[in-house]
Amino acid sequence: MIQLFRIVIAFLISLLLLGVSLTFGREPMIQITDGVYSYLDVHDPLPTNSFGANSGIIIGDEGVAVIDSLGSAKEAQNFLAEIKTITDKPIQYLILTHHHLNHSFGASVFKNEGAEIVAHADCLDEMVKHSHTTLENATSYGLTAEELAGTEIVYPTRTFNGQSLKLDFKGVDIRLVTATPSHSRGSLFVHLPEKKVVFTGDLLFTDYHPYMGEGQIVRWRAELDKVSSLGAEKIIPGHGPLSSNRDLMEMKSYLAQFDTLATEIVSHGKNIDRAYRELYTTLPTRSRSESLIMANLRIKYFHPTDQKAQNTDNAKTLPAQ
Ligand SMILES: [Zn+2]
Ligand SMILES: [Zn+2]
Repeated sequence: MIQLFRIVIAFLISLLLLGVSLTFGREPMIQITDGVYSYLDVHDPLPTNSFGANSGIIIGDEGVAVIDSLGSAKEAQNFLAEIKTITDKPIQYLILTHHHLNHSFGASVFKNEGAEIVAHADCLDEMVKHSHTTLENATSYGLTAEELAGTEIVYPTRTFNGQSLKLDFKGVDIRLVTATPSHSRGSLFVHLPEKKVVFTGDLLFTDYHPYMGEGQIVRWRAELDKVSSLGAEKIIPGHGPLSSNRDLMEMKSYLAQFDTLATEIVSHGKNIDRAYRELYTTLPTRSRSESLIMANLRIKYFHPTDQKAQNTDNAKTLPAQ
């Protein structure tokens, strides 16, 4: 575990050394279609902006469904203030697409608003196993005590295990679709069939190098096909700008390319620096977070112990993307 934290610290330091600009603040909420808004952050991913995680809301007849809480009470409070500029309806649901801190650690703010917190059963399991430890160690990887003020772990209050769950939500048909394991164990995506909208969570990173540390590549690529088959016209990724089917296919291709190359390089006994150079020069260009290539190599391909743990669903939660 300590080694994994060191890796993440190195990742964050390397982000700074790469000269990322310290831009803060999200874009205002964007109306995707009637009653559906995205809350995107297309700046550089940093601890102070939930590592660039996206979120969104769906406004029904009687309440609001929020998709992902962002990574701290402070971030969630800012998000809630944005929501209040658009609607005064109560927060009925908080949907968690997966357990990673930057998508789930603001949940208490929405619970305090009376929201039911909905997630896949495996997401709850991952949170129970790892979230408290992750929060205790959060300052080690870049989140300051000030940024974390008021942040507390709260768990989903409703989970499901099947292929999908249709929420009881007046005015909009909301389907939570199981996508586990893919980007992480317990991942789901949110499909609004009548609106032709999908919130993918971290199945999709558009224009970002994805975090693949807990990724199960074959299943992940299959889930991207599943999203693609839905014919959505508006796709909100876990990270990056409003996306399309083309971005899903580029993500699918990127995952295969990374996995094939990294596996081949490891099998030839090359060291991690050589692997990094080969991947960096071969992979499609994606802005920001080039260091995630190194992080993914270290965590998924050069740490067989962690990989073994992952395969038995006992992976350590990483405070990442
Ligand atoms: Zn993420
Ligand atoms: Zn994630």
